[in-house]
Amino acid sequence: MGADFTFDRHGIVFIVSGPSGAGKSTLVEALTTRFPELDLSVSYTTRAPRGAEADGREYRFVDAVEFVRRRDAGEMAEWAEVHGALYGTPRAPLDDAIAEGRDLLLDIDVQGARRLKRVYRDSAVAVMVFPPSWEELERRLRDRRTDDEAAIARRLARAREEADHLPEYDYFVRNADREEAAARVIAIVLAERARVSRIVVEPAP
Ligand code: 5GP
Repeated sequence: MGADFTFDRHGIVFIVSGPSGAGKSTLVEALTTRFPELDLSVSYTTRAPRGAEADGREYRFVDAVEFVRRRDAGEMAEWAEVHGALYGTPRAPLDDAIAEGRDLLLDIDVQGARRLKRVYRDSAVAVMVFPPSWEELERRLRDRRTDDEAAIARRLARAREEADHLPEYDYFVRNADREEAAARVIAIVLAERARVSRIVVEPAP
């Protein structure tokens, strides 16, 4: 009887992007439920907390001065301006997770995804989530009743710009049915974890 293989692997940075109304947050929730060990990266933002959002949980809420100070000190792996506010991903938790073989989940926009793919290369896996059609996206945005007509038009225009970035992504998930889409993102995580290129087999004793 041979001994078990001893193997290790590097951590993976899973990026999920998509327009508001794509159902991203439900998919992120499905992933963290299925993979409780998958930590969510907590970004810095200069926007104000919404609803029940808590500092340090959804975001680290900072003012523009602190944001710029941390960014200029090299504390952010990427940053971007989205809807007039600044957002940035803390660098240390990403580097630590990759080195320690832990996976992280990031909900960031197309600019951030492009930057992290450039920096982290194969350690970053980017998934674009989109509703099944432009009509459905518009319907979902209206049904939320959180935006006026001008805001809906802005979000639709931004969604069209985001779609142009699809070639920079590794996977596309069409979110028509929540269960089906959740099964797809779960399959992506399982398959990426199993890639031979990520596995470090310990030498036989
Ligand atoms: P919200 O303010 O609605 O939470 O997020 C607005 C947008 O900012 C979303 O598209 C979200 O993916 C993006 N976002 C959140 N955190 C970051 C970040 O650290 N970096 C980048 N580039 N985008 C982010």
